[in-house]
Amino acid sequence: MPVIHVIQENKLMVTTHNLGFPRIGVKRELKFALEAYWNGSEPQEALIKTGKALRQTHWQHQNHLNHIPVGDFSFYDHILDASFLLGNIPTRSVKQNDTILDQYFRVARGRSVNDITDDNHSFAGEMTKWFDTNYHYIVPEFTNDTKFSLNPEHLLQQIKEAQQINPHVKPVLIGPVSYLYIGKTYGNRDKISLLPQLIEIYQQLLKTLAEHDVQWIQLDEPILVTELSEAWKNAFVSTYQVLNTPNINILIATYFGQLKENLPLLASLSVQAVHLDTINGFDEINPLINAITDNKIISLGVINGRNIWKSDLNAILQWLEPISLQLGDRLWIAPSCSLLHVPVDLNNEQKLDSELQSWMAFALQKLEEINILATALNQGKASVQQALDDNQSAINSRKNSDRTHNPAVRHVRSLITPELGQRKSNYAERFKKQQAILNLPHFPTTTIGSFPQTADIRKARNQFKKGLIDFKTYEAAMHKEIAFCIEQQTKLELDVFVHGEAERNDMVEYFGEQLNGYAISQHGWVQSYGSRCVKPPILYGDISRPIPMTVEWIKYAQSLTNKPVKGMLTGPVTILNWSFVRDDQPRSESCYQLAMAIRAEVLDLEKAGVQIIQIDEAALREGLPLRRSQWNEYLNWAIDSFRVTANGVQDETQIHTHMCYSEFNDIIAAIASMDADVITIETSRSNMELLEVFEQFKYPNSIGPGVYDIHSPNIPSTEQIIQLMDKAKQLIPVQHLWINPDCGLKTRQWKEVIPALEHMVSAAKHLRKNT
Ligand code: GLN
Ligand code: ZN
Repeated sequence: MPVIHVIQENKLMVTTHNLGFPRIGVKRELKFALEAYWNGSEPQEALIKTGKALRQTHWQHQNHLNHIPVGDFSFYDHILDASFLLGNIPTRSVKQNDTILDQYFRVARGRSVNDITDDNHSFAGEMTKWFDTNYHYIVPEFTNDTKFSLNPEHLLQQIKEAQQINPHVKPVLIGPVSYLYIGKTYGNRDKISLLPQLIEIYQQLLKTLAEHDVQWIQLDEPILVTELSEAWKNAFVSTYQVLNTPNINILIATYFGQLKENLPLLASLSVQAVHLDTINGFDEINPLINAITDNKIISLGVINGRNIWKSDLNAILQWLEPISLQLGDRLWIAPSCSLLHVPVDLNNEQKLDSELQSWMAFALQKLEEINILATALNQGKASVQQALDDNQSAINSRKNSDRTHNPAVRHVRSLITPELGQRKSNYAERFKKQQAILNLPHFPTTTIGSFPQTADIRKARNQFKKGLIDFKTYEAAMHKEIAFCIEQQTKLELDVFVHGEAERNDMVEYFGEQLNGYAISQHGWVQSYGSRCVKPPILYGDISRPIPMTVEWIKYAQSLTNKPVKGMLTGPVTILNWSFVRDDQPRSESCYQLAMAIRAEVLDLEKAGVQIIQIDEAALREGLPLRRSQWNEYLNWAIDSFRVTANGVQDETQIHTHMCYSEFNDIIAAIASMDADVITIETSRSNMELLEVFEQFKYPNSIGPGVYDIHSPNIPSTEQIIQLMDKAKQLIPVQHLWINPDCGLKTRQWKEVIPALEHMVSAAKHLRKNT
């Protein structure tokens, strides 16, 4: 495919670009503007103005690149933007009187069930994780009536804005094949049958863009790093054959994994450029170059767009220089994927230890790395020698630091054997011994850990963090909260209590703050969905636990009641999967180190007399690799890590684990081999269907299927809960069934929690009488 026009002034040079920029803003300006609009305190114009200002700033930041991305900014989600661009809006969300933006938020967020009687009510689009990231997109919906139509105004507007800053704009959009693939169908519509219609819209779009002086478009086709059926592979060929449009060049971007068997397919597509993620697909660089026979441009993602570490620029140049000589102006460089997944600017961090900070790079620093590499390639290394030397010293400092290589931690890690993850007796034996002590009724009732995080709680935590109150005052405030939770649970007559997690801002950061080998940034926010951001703690070094992290809080809670209070921990796999993780050793190694640290906590809790210990593994499933062929490898070390963490206890100690938003069909054997005495899972929205696989597998241990959805303010009735449990009873032996909500209650209010749990307990009482 000949490139239609080479827009570079200086030929035979490497070109720089970016696949996407974080949209939330350095200070989370977008989050606050969205929430102000949603709660009515600011008008729509204010939000629009903030969006525009953010885009301007982001383009200015990227102006040193040869191409700047446009269309990567979004008020909620770029896949939902694509659905609007392509005219694919669920009919239930189309309401008269809505502005386009309101219609957009209606699909993104739905309208509260409280409005169900009025015409405003509608369900939100489904939200799903974007590949193996923690970003969630709104799933495109296809029905038998789906018809596409082009609505390019919003995108064109942004293109115009961007062109005023830099004429070399490159719109970024999900490719048609991936767009269909990641959507869901209602009715009997076969997704691929929609392709011809969809391609027509893309053709119209490309033509329109060309008319607006756009020379390149980036079409993201990340499904090319997954296992595809023949039909989908063929869809790629036919799509790109017809998409070719005069006066505009197409760059197909792939990322997050290896192309493997799809490499020849990508190489053969009739487009002008392809992008390869060299962080995941380093071994595929040469095969891809060799497979391309038609002079396509090759864009290499040379800087990791998913982590917060500096790249080893000298090492990259070593392998990149020969490629640059070979490809000349056919080489582009960029981050491996969109920078959506990293925080904006490291220079905002005031409190990180300076050595650690010198090892890191956020989005702006990563783009600067691209700049340094390009300059080295285009003008010779000498022109950026200082920058390369500085980079080298940072890389060396990290490599040689005893914080990343702590012999004591390495010794503890080396003690891991399969026996360490093995309970002393089988479940049936343990069940008897535990029952002899706990003496729980049938259908024991419990909650998942957190109780409402009130304004008072947050205030006390913040004041303590800022040093405005001393530990004694803080401790007293937390004790008051714990006592309140215990009192409520006593009144509710729950069987197994929790302390309520008031002292935890977040189930991972809480442990990150206390473990050696972890750092916490001040502003390292990353968008999770819509206005929601997470601040993953940074696992930079060898992990150890200087002192117990949770024991005193649980002991205090237990001192207030005779009912068992669960010790509450986050498991190693979840801590790992929700952190930024070091890239200088396999993830499995960091996970095993975490496992030994949390294991020590488990054993300390047991020593303190805690009878029941819950180890949450909410993020276990989402760590699964994109390709199924790699699942076993992950599950082996992930499940092993959990076993090492949990299973060193005596038979009498009851281990619980909790998993939300999970499907278990394809991982049930791994789940069973964790051997937790009780697993609590989110099931209410699936109407207990998730339990079927536990039945088929003859899952031997106990299960607490969630009986109500904690995401919604709705209060379940006793009858609803009984109905769900009647279903559960048909699948799981009654002596193995617990009753609990779907997940923790921290986002709810007490006025919702109390009646919901009252109904849950009365359902349990009813079931005990009638079973
Ligand atoms: N124990 C945690 C809580 O209740 C679990 C949260 C989760 O699974 N996401 O908040
Ligand atoms: Zn949960």
